Amino acid sequence: MSDNHADLIVLGAGPGGYACAFRAADLGRNVVMVDPRATLGGVCLNVGCIPSKALLHAAEVIREARHGDDWGISTGKVSVDLEKLRAKKESIVAQLTTGLVGLAKRRKVQTIRGTAQFTGDKSVEIDGTTWTFDQAVIAVGSAPVRLPGWPEDDRIWDSTDALELREVPPKLSIVGGGIIGLEMATVYAALGSKVTVIEFMDQIAPGADGDAVAILHAALEAEGVTIHTNTKVNNVKATKATLTLSCEGAFEGTIKADVAIQAVGRRSNGSLVAPKAAGIEMDDRGIIHVDAACRTNVANIFAIGDVTGNPMLAHRATHQGHVAAEVALGHSAALDTSLIPSVAYTAPELAWAGLTQAQAKDQGIAYKVASFPWVASGRNLASGGGDGLTKLVYCPDSHRLLGATIVGRNAGELLAESVLAMEMGATLEDVSLSVHAHPTLSETVGFAAERALGTLTDL
Ligand code: FAD
Ligand code: NAD
Repeated sequence: MSDNHADLIVLGAGPGGYACAFRAADLGRNVVMVDPRATLGGVCLNVGCIPSKALLHAAEVIREARHGDDWGISTGKVSVDLEKLRAKKESIVAQLTTGLVGLAKRRKVQTIRGTAQFTGDKSVEIDGTTWTFDQAVIAVGSAPVRLPGWPEDDRIWDSTDALELREVPPKLSIVGGGIIGLEMATVYAALGSKVTVIEFMDQIAPGADGDAVAILHAALEAEGVTIHTNTKVNNVKATKATLTLSCEGAFEGTIKADVAIQAVGRRSNGSLVAPKAAGIEMDDRGIIHVDAACRTNVANIFAIGDVTGNPMLAHRATHQGHVAAEVALGHSAALDTSLIPSVAYTAPELAWAGLTQAQAKDQGIAYKVASFPWVASGRNLASGGGDGLTKLVYCPDSHRLLGATIVGRNAGELLAESVLAMEMGATLEDVSLSVHAHPTLSETVGFAAERALGTLTDL
């Protein structure tokens, strides 16, 4: 190997990139990983999954303290030291990103801080230096979409700004009721902002099950969040005193805000690596399309994670990373992307995988629904949980699970059983005959299956 040659070069050190680099190194490959960030871990560890979950945990602690009175526990007025909270969040991020440096070193993965661009199908330029490679994996992720025509103003935030926790704005408008919008609404409502969410589609969390979303919608409103669905923000005016958002649709009028968060989706970073120079095809949204083995149209170049399109989720990127590494080393591997779970870590959490009821109906797939309302869950009531629902979509003939949606406390953790059931082709009988410990929230999955089979005695 010459000095500037890599057997396998990975562009991007997010959950896709580092998972791929580490798997390839574990399989015996000499790997170089490039990223312009000062720390490893990409969006997810630095400005995504982890800092948002730290703030969501703080929001939960605040809510629990405020509702303590229901249990005869008074904590006094809850106050938040923003500086300490920020430092706590940053220390968690630092612990994880530093951990990655150690993992890379132990595997002898060479990390380079820099921006890589293809100059051919066997070469890249990293900040002016040419590197050659045998194989490459593109894992450069995505960036927030910016709405056109909005003014440049410090009070207009994207998700990265929102996670910085610079201040708690008295009036906060969030444009977009997708996962980022809803998680940030959960955080800032708990911190004391008067939050308004404006969503273009007919429900928040578009694509998730409508019955489950209705429960989340009501819970957010109960925490003081105003939600306008079927409403689009047309333009924004910034004066010294305030931001004014003009809306059209179900809500016609203006909303005044101290800060507005744009949470209207993310776009692929594909164009940042000059893919054309290597002959890699990319669509007009910057997405590099790949097959189930994560191959691009160029034989020695793979792509993984957000740069390959939706769903833009860390666990999809990681699994694609493993597949790309294994295929690059001559193993047979592929990822079935029909079973990627989605979780909004809101209060309550909303989690789903496989087909929703509406998708089964739209696709003309024969289905039945099994559900269990959490009002009848002893564990939910005994833990101070609010409304919740476990809903399974299944095939009427084979009884195999086709989809699962759970809304309620810890729904994200509870979904794993249904994902495994679908992965293994399990039936309602398998789920209902698996003994779920009592009292647990996981019982609601077993109860939903029992209810469909007519064997339920708990409702
Ligand atoms: P990224 O994590 O985006 O990493 C790509 C890396 O490539 C970056 O570090 C970038 O600096 C680098 N790069 C860019 N250009 C170049 C170049 N030319 N050369 C070299 N390197 C380059 N997903 C979940 O599953 N669960 C969650 O809870 C969750 N929460 C989120 C919260 C927020 C606020 C946001 C914004 C996202 C969240 N996501 C979550 C989505 C998740 O962060 C992404 O799906 C995931 O990070 C994608 O991983 P990736 O490896 O494809 O790319
Ligand atoms: P999103 O696509 O999930 O949601 C954006 C929302 O904005 C949509 O519902 C859309 O209808 C709405 N919208 C678009 N333009 C609008 C307008 N002009 N007015 C009003 N509403 C408008 O995108 P996001 O929430 O920004 O998240 C980006 C990505 O990050 C997603 O792929 C998501 O999966 C990922 N993410 C995941 C998690 C998680 O897994 N917990 C957390 C955060 C982000």
